[in-house]
Amino acid sequence: MLKFYSLSSGSSGNSAFLRYKNTRILIDCGISARKVSDALYQIGEDSVDAILITHEHGDHIKGLKVFSKKHSVPVYATGPTWENIGSCGDYIPVFNRRISVPGGVIPVGDIDVLPFATSHDSAFSVGYTLLCGDKKIAIATDNGKLTADFANNLQGCYTALIEANYDEKMLTQGPYPYPLKCRISSPVGHMSNHQAGKLACALARSGTEKIILGHLSVENNTPDLAYNIVSEMLREENLKVSLKVAHRYDITDLLE
Ligand SMILES: [Zn+2]
Ligand SMILES: [Zn+2]
Repeated sequence: MLKFYSLSSGSSGNSAFLRYKNTRILIDCGISARKVSDALYQIGEDSVDAILITHEHGDHIKGLKVFSKKHSVPVYATGPTWENIGSCGDYIPVFNRRISVPGGVIPVGDIDVLPFATSHDSAFSVGYTLLCGDKKIAIATDNGKLTADFANNLQGCYTALIEANYDEKMLTQGPYPYPLKCRISSPVGHMSNHQAGKLACALARSGTEKIILGHLSVENNTPDLAYNIVSEMLREENLKVSLKVAHRYDITDLLE
């Protein structure tokens, strides 16, 4: 049994769920614990066996405190992320605080988890690939620089949730103060629709069958714009892949 859902995706909060055989993993907990529990219920689940945290920004850990009070399971994050997680880690006992090391393998039941470094203005952010039998699943958001190393980690994955945070034109012409515009488009900010398109093309060439665009900005992007730009780039290269945009506040089936 393989299940992969985005529970919520966007600057307002991120959380995803993966199940393979008997192992259930939550990736980030950036919406309230109540919303995570409700979403899990809707997809026929009631708990998880582990939580993976990508980095300490609020849109990835907002619900962690309350969720981990109810569910005493191992939580994985990099060392610097733990140092910066603040009160969101209040109810996570020492024995459940585990370290994600990029390049290493974390066996979690039936799933092998591989963290890899991302380029983002946090203490030490990571993305994750998750090996489920012969299928590799990837989550890679909050990354400002599309390096060969970054793309290599995702090569050959079956499904990838990647970031299409902003449209260059909307960001430039939008209401954000100039320093914030610079931060978002910097190598330690977020991925634009065009960067997402480039990555989508590389993934499609490596055999990826399903690409989901996520972590869209409310102010600087729209689902239609992100979809159209990325699908056009795929079409120009004659690449065929299933493409969709993850819902901001709703559950999205990432394997559908
Ligand atoms: Zn972030
Ligand atoms: Zn984020």
